[in-house]
Amino acid sequence: MGRKKIFATLAALTSLAYSQAQTLPDSIVEPCAQSWILDKLEKEYPGFSLAFNQAYEASVDASKFEPQVQSRARRITDTMYYFDTVFIMPVVVHIVYNTNNENLPDSLAVNQIEVLNQDFRRLNADTSKTRPIFKARAGDARIEFVLASVDPQGNPTTGITRTYSTRTSFGGNQLNDQMKFTAQGGEDAWDPKKYLNIWVCDLSQNGQDALLGYAYPPYGHPFWTSNVWVADNRQGVVMHYKVFGRNNRLALNGSATLRQSAMGRVAVHEVGHYFGLRHIWADDQYSVNKCAADDYIDDTPLMGAQSSFNCLWSANGCTTANDEPDMVENYMDYSTHACQNMFTKGQVAAMRNVASTYRKDLAIAYRIDTTIRIFDTVVYDEVLIYRQSENQNITVELTDELKEGVVTLQVYDLLGQAMNEETLLTENVTRFSTVGWRPAAYIGILRRADNDKVLRRDKIFVD
Ligand SMILES: [Zn+2]
Repeated sequence: MGRKKIFATLAALTSLAYSQAQTLPDSIVEPCAQSWILDKLEKEYPGFSLAFNQAYEASVDASKFEPQVQSRARRITDTMYYFDTVFIMPVVVHIVYNTNNENLPDSLAVNQIEVLNQDFRRLNADTSKTRPIFKARAGDARIEFVLASVDPQGNPTTGITRTYSTRTSFGGNQLNDQMKFTAQGGEDAWDPKKYLNIWVCDLSQNGQDALLGYAYPPYGHPFWTSNVWVADNRQGVVMHYKVFGRNNRLALNGSATLRQSAMGRVAVHEVGHYFGLRHIWADDQYSVNKCAADDYIDDTPLMGAQSSFNCLWSANGCTTANDEPDMVENYMDYSTHACQNMFTKGQVAAMRNVASTYRKDLAIAYRIDTTIRIFDTVVYDEVLIYRQSENQNITVELTDELKEGVVTLQVYDLLGQAMNEETLLTENVTRFSTVGWRPAAYIGILRRADNDKVLRRDKIFVD
């Protein structure tokens, strides 16, 4: 089947899912709707997912996407401003309720923001649970979230709206987004270009907690097919009220699945989608070769299917060459919250790319943070050299632990004068003092220790 035909079929089937009220299977709890649609359509139209994946792969034209990745890597390398920058994003939480139980306290909104900030900055308390094989890949997204303090009219706000609705559930008409429109029993979005809107409401269907949350990727993002893009007024994150915030008592006192989803990480997962990330297993669980499709992130291992609310460290759904265990630690899996603890540097680079392009109007503040470790460039270039002027040193990071002990660094001024002894890099992170160096451009040269081959030259500016 040609590409065009696949797309036509795909669009028709998917619009069916959007336009008809669907019934969720009672026994299946899906954390987010993207996967649910695929499961549902596969059941109705066997073979659908294979076609979907073929279309999906074709839509991300490698020849188109690669240059974008490369240019991003170059820009990050050359622009200290970009990779030092912390994006600060305003959030408005719309609590749309019918019962008192659904009218959640402010404290849950506050602790939900805390969880987002901890997990996106890799300041979560459980980073030690990342297995050694994946530790060096864990990334700090340098995206932070604050409850909005100014509303769209310029008035002070808590960043939380409360709307009584006569609707007892928004889950019955799957994905029709009624919670996002005042006229349909919900609450209109605040300018979605300027705020991350999070709607919290009852997403149950027939009394079942069938859907925990969903989000749309940025319009036009190359990881996604066009049939999942939506217009501005539907952009944002939707959460089932029982899993909003950390230690929500409705989750703690709920079913096993809810109890395993009580650490506030449904929002982390959905905000990951909002910043363009796909599921780590690439939604290809029905594909003939479910290890063929990738999530378009270089440093996540291939994964055959999602975790099912468990934490199986032995899980390994693909056994291709150089295959690694399933990364059940990843926020974009469906593992238990206690199992999840990381985004990868590749996911971080993808999300930061979205934050500075598709969602560039969102940030209300930027903070240049030079004390943090910087990772974006290493995703593609493997070695990173950068200058931290306030500490008067140069930092060299090697991401691949195998490289430790085989690479040397020497710095020269532009007249070719060596500024330091050639130094063997024996640590993952090495710092060189620049105290006493005059303000100028210098050249750092990385060589292989065994054969002196030059691996990389980097300009270093000392101010
Ligand atoms: Zn998801």
